[in-house]
Amino acid sequence: MKVQKKVLSVTLSGLMAFGALTAVSFPAHAVGNGPGTGNGSIQTSILHTYVEMVDYLKTQEAKQPAMDLEVIGQTVKERDIYMAKYISNPENPTILFLTQQHGNEQLTTEGALEFIKHLGTNKSKDILNNVNILVIPMLNADGAMGDVNFSLEDYLADGDRHLTRYNANEVDLNREHDKATSDMEPEARALHENVFSKYKIDYMIDLHHQGTLSETEGELVSGSMLYPTNPNVNPEVLEKSKRLGAVVFNAIQDTGWGHIGKYVGGSGENIGRNGAAVRYDISTLLFEMRGMSDHYREDYALGQKSNGYLIKQTIVTLEATVRAIADDSIETVDASFWDTLPEQKNRSGEEADE
Ligand SMILES: [Zn+2]
Repeated sequence: MKVQKKVLSVTLSGLMAFGALTAVSFPAHAVGNGPGTGNGSIQTSILHTYVEMVDYLKTQEAKQPAMDLEVIGQTVKERDIYMAKYISNPENPTILFLTQQHGNEQLTTEGALEFIKHLGTNKSKDILNNVNILVIPMLNADGAMGDVNFSLEDYLADGDRHLTRYNANEVDLNREHDKATSDMEPEARALHENVFSKYKIDYMIDLHHQGTLSETEGELVSGSMLYPTNPNVNPEVLEKSKRLGAVVFNAIQDTGWGHIGKYVGGSGENIGRNGAAVRYDISTLLFEMRGMSDHYREDYALGQKSNGYLIKQTIVTLEATVRAIADDSIETVDASFWDTLPEQKNRSGEEADE
């Protein structure tokens, strides 16, 4: 249906999105005046496909002496899962950035790719000498490409593909983290066996997207955050997690356009934020950006207008974190904001689902 119209809107929106991406600053009212419910059509054409992402990573690896690319495993549909590595000294603290456990949450990946490019510039040299960085962009590549064994009939995005939360077997990868690795879906197993178990990881930010209608104090949030909440997390790991959150919160506040709420999430060890902390003593932060790249629910799916600032929000997050670890300021940052950070509420009354 309406094939012609779809093609036209892809082109126009693609151009608009390009403008948003190249803009240096973002209006302060971007959050409140961004798309509400009924976000219009979502254009997937501005997002990297899996193949484009792999090309991008290989290009960066060729340009950047400090970067190595590792294949940590394969998806259900046998796509290689990539991790970008910067390990200058194994003794340095190590942080892992993980994106797209949920395949329909792709702007965080777009931000992570831009962050990787920035790591290749001269101004990143000091950082790379003092912190080891692991980036897994697009863990759920099958979901990201809509190459799944279930129906995508009700999904809303226009463009070249649909994107799904679940992996090809319709499993939620962010509910796998309490299992024996032999019982996990291949994507989660790759993460546990070839990353969590193999590297000494101090910090992880697990990057997601939530619905579009969460707010605190009457204002839509640009994102929400939470530390691990399982009772078995080592108290020291928890404190470090809260400081990791403080670094991110301060950086987003400094932008002037970010508005962060406290995520209301479960304590189950099956969730990455909790499982990685309990099983591997990794200090973790869940960061949920506003709005998804595709969904069957209109109030979850994000239109085009907000893409630029959400990608920017990811870049700000990753850059601030590696700086704070590299210069040790993360050790002394004041994390008391957590005590007063308002929990977000959803205007449509829906529960969030990290
Ligand atoms: Zn998610």
